[in-house]
Amino acid sequence: MAIQPSLDLAGLIEGYRRFRQTGWAERRERWAALRQGQEPRVMVIACADSRTDPAMVFDADPGEIFVVRNIAAMVPPFETNPGLHGVSAALEFAVQALHVREIVIMGHGMCGGCKAALTQELRGAERGHGGFIADWISMLDDVRDPIAAELGTTGREAEQAMEHAAVKASLANLRTFPNVRALEAEGKLRLRGAYFAISEGVLHLLDEETGEFAPVA
Ligand SMILES: [Zn+2]
Repeated sequence: MAIQPSLDLAGLIEGYRRFRQTGWAERRERWAALRQGQEPRVMVIACADSRTDPAMVFDADPGEIFVVRNIAAMVPPFETNPGLHGVSAALEFAVQALHVREIVIMGHGMCGGCKAALTQELRGAERGHGGFIADWISMLDDVRDPIAAELGTTGREAEQAMEHAAVKASLANLRTFPNVRALEAEGKLRLRGAYFAISEGVLHLLDEETGEFAPVA
């Protein structure tokens, strides 16, 4: 089946006009209330992939979820070295300022970032030519190696194992943030792993006791 060509900005402007007619006009009061501020209860960390938009998957309204998206839906470990820690800054804001009650890591099927982590095809690439991606996904190296040893580096079984492992790695990294770990221990913050299977449109939730992902009923 051919992939439909995607929209350029001119096409997206048509969508914006529909939004002004419906999404915005019909919810004018909601938007007015949101001027006062935001109080989302959930933070979602998802992949930048164009097929896995949390607002669409969760049918969420503006103000309902605080979202960070990046390559492979990753959370880096807590690091104190100087640097531009975008995910950590967003996490800090969600936890300290917004007091979100849940953080959901949402991985997905057919993830290019996870695939590259598995094949390591970008290893050694120059920055600007794959090197930034290689650096970013190198945080999956430890979980990647046993998967590559057992299942190889190609094929959906290995790729899905990598996609699932990436969600678990991000949950583990979340728990390296002292404030996140403390709030979770106090029962004030819940961490969840999720996985969106694109072609079926089915969301799976991780059971951390069993390590298994199961479809949401
Ligand atoms: Zn992805």
